[in-house]
Amino acid sequence: MKTEIAIVGGGLSGLALAARLQDADVDFHLFEARSRLGGRIAVLNTPTGSVDLGPSWFWPGQPRIASLVNDLGVRAFPQYATGDVCFEDDRGTVHRGMGFASMEGSFRLEGGMESLITGVAARLADDRVHVASRVTDIAQGGRLLTDRGQWCEAKTVVLALPPRVAAKLRFHPALDKDVVRELQHVPTWMAGHAKFVAVYDTPFWRTAGLSGDATSRRGPLAEIHDASGAEGAPAALFGFLGVPAARRRGRDDEIRAAALQQLARIFGPEAAAPVTTSFMDWACEPETATELDADPPIGHPAYGPLPPTRGLWKGRLHFASTETAPDMGGLMEGALASAERIFNLVSPRRQKEFPAS
Ligand SMILES: Cc1cc2nc3c(=O)[nH]c(=O)nc-3n(C[C@H](O)[C@H](O)[C@H](O)COP(=O)(O)OP(=O)(O)OC[C@H]3O[C@@H](n4cnc5c(N)ncnc54)[C@H](O)[C@@H]3O)c2cc1C
Repeated sequence: MKTEIAIVGGGLSGLALAARLQDADVDFHLFEARSRLGGRIAVLNTPTGSVDLGPSWFWPGQPRIASLVNDLGVRAFPQYATGDVCFEDDRGTVHRGMGFASMEGSFRLEGGMESLITGVAARLADDRVHVASRVTDIAQGGRLLTDRGQWCEAKTVVLALPPRVAAKLRFHPALDKDVVRELQHVPTWMAGHAKFVAVYDTPFWRTAGLSGDATSRRGPLAEIHDASGAEGAPAALFGFLGVPAARRRGRDDEIRAAALQQLARIFGPEAAAPVTTSFMDWACEPETATELDADPPIGHPAYGPLPPTRGLWKGRLHFASTETAPDMGGLMEGALASAERIFNLVSPRRQKEFPAS
């Protein structure tokens, strides 16, 4: 196949770019390695609704997400924050009334963050979006090869992938070593983390006067939040694992059992009997994390466009994940900001007006 723009990656940044190109009548094809779209945005589907396994929140002051939510007509609701916050010390003693819910003021989405993905994807022409199509090779003339043996010839290639994942592709000719080093230097936001979700019949902790918000020095969950739907259905709690990625591998059953015991210590015995659970270890997902992501950064890295990638292959190779965003890099808002930035660089009108950039 031949196209104007080939997009590699069907996460929020790749899909948002595709939507902009389609609106501007620019021909594109998008290739996604997984059999689903969304990348780091994923949910656990339950009979009473979806629970986020990737991002859960967006915040006031994020205009692109707010506008997308509005355009798609998805319902946003505030993170549940009523009731006591708990703290479990290293001996397993639980203290109630420990300050304010840490995510108070943030917003969640009905149907989970996946509603953004299904909403944007539904607007794209089906024959332009190829799932289960992992790009393995990229040649300088704009030729891509997927693991299904598909070839695509594009005038411009956009890698809507975390830079470290992009560095693993086979480039012909190989990228300059300094460029590869720069790509590998950018931590993929949240890639080294894991989430444990427990779904219940009712949000019983709320009636006990608890917000569902807790921190723990004992673990295995370090930070716990109410993950329920807008009206408390599905009823769910989730926790970020405090156990490093290397020590999580192959221990799913042990971690599930220990997490349920911990939830019962903090929220009461009902927490030990969920309807279902899910353990999502992002560090084990090669489409998201590399071995360099096993030790996540402590603070939020200073993300931004990567100067050494500027003008690569005569301006025909671009990097577009949230990690390259000019604004709010790492977050979903950043994924939208990076799509906007790349659209402005690759759209034909822009190229005609500013041929040198
Ligand atoms: C546990 C967790 C919690 C988070 N919490 C929040 C939060 O509360 N709020 C917030 O704003 N953000 C949060 N984030 C970050 C948010 O998920 C990201 O900012 C956003 O989803 C990034 O989108 P992206 O398109 O830039 O990258 P990605 O979602 O990583 O998309 C890259 C895509 O490329 C695909 N791909 C990889 N290799 C190939 C290949 N060779 N060929 C083709 N396709 C390929 C991948 O499968 C993926 O679909 C969280 C992330 C995680 C993991």
